[in-house]
Amino acid sequence: MYKLTGIKMEENLRIATIVRKTDENQTDDLIIEEAAGILRAGGLVAFPTETVYGLGADALHEKASMKIYEAKGRPSDNPLIVHIADEAQLESIVKTVPDKARALMKAFWPGPLTIIFRKSDTVPGGTTGGLDTVAVRMPEHKIALELIRASGLPIAAPSANTSGRPSPTNAMHVYEDLNGRIDMIIDGGTVGIGIESTIIDVTCEPPMILRPGYITKEKLERVIGPVAVDKAVSEPVSPHVIPRAPGMKYKHYAPEADFTMFSGEADKVARHINRLTEEKLRQGFKVGVIASDETVDKYRSGDVVSLGTRKNDITVARNLYRVLREFDNKKVDYIFGETFTDDEFGQAIMNRLCKAAGYQIEIVT
Ligand code: AMP
Ligand code: MG
Repeated sequence: MYKLTGIKMEENLRIATIVRKTDENQTDDLIIEEAAGILRAGGLVAFPTETVYGLGADALHEKASMKIYEAKGRPSDNPLIVHIADEAQLESIVKTVPDKARALMKAFWPGPLTIIFRKSDTVPGGTTGGLDTVAVRMPEHKIALELIRASGLPIAAPSANTSGRPSPTNAMHVYEDLNGRIDMIIDGGTVGIGIESTIIDVTCEPPMILRPGYITKEKLERVIGPVAVDKAVSEPVSPHVIPRAPGMKYKHYAPEADFTMFSGEADKVARHINRLTEEKLRQGFKVGVIASDETVDKYRSGDVVSLGTRKNDITVARNLYRVLREFDNKKVDYIFGETFTDDEFGQAIMNRLCKAAGYQIEIVT
């Protein structure tokens, strides 16, 4: 099914999605130019970044960004992040650049930090979900930067998945969700970080984290002093908790199975999950178990997968969405998982896991 190069045409699909493979360390200029041409013509191109794959369109062309919403099935009030390759591009799309934003840009760009600014009139409401602010990021990925530069445009790019599914961490995930719905996929291999960028709003005081990511609160505070965190980062959305990043209110990062996490002492959690897994298997269900390198041997049955080592958060982040997608593909009915520590980068990992599990967490005593 999946071809690394060449044109793919399927019946009943509107667009023939081109898939091209290129290496981050040795990008193919012809492929970048082909993709840039599609973007300039108002088309859609999925490309790798250091966080997850993005689905790009001309951020200044309302019709082009609207195509993103259509391809993803994304609610139209969920604004897009605009990707730039140099600071000159920023000046044209924002009203002002506050001092704290300048300090953050100097410290973390290019990198996995999205900053919210007041938008200028050049950015259409279709790109920002009707808001008067715009989210901007300079990605740290050679393919992404070269593509943005070659297009000569700021590129609106949300994660390149069908809305509600886990974000794509390799080109195959993009293909599964969007083949036939977008013009091109640039396959640049597996991403490095694996979960979406940190989002910080600098239009308020103190600045506020709207979505946790690889750039942690601690790292931000070392540069700009106190930073607040939106309540919606750690609590389920309710009439009392309305997230400031509109996208955080939607059921995101969700696998199809019923996913519950269990927190507590490792041996007790494993015993509890083993018992539940065996019960569900006896009833004829398929069960996936999410463990870590340190605990994986404690599990006896079900489809047991380690997310990575607890000694290195990034291994866990990098595998998270792939594992959730694989459980979807295997049509698992239940997922039972361990929790992970929620300090520093762990906060972002637990934020995504909690959302994927619909905040179903049980404490095992
Ligand atoms: P995605 O690119 O799919 O990871 O989603 C982008 C996220 O950024 C969503 O949660 C949006 O709600 C959020 N976002 C984008 N623009 C803004 C903005 N102007 N203000 C607040 N949140 C934003
Ligand atoms: Mg997304």
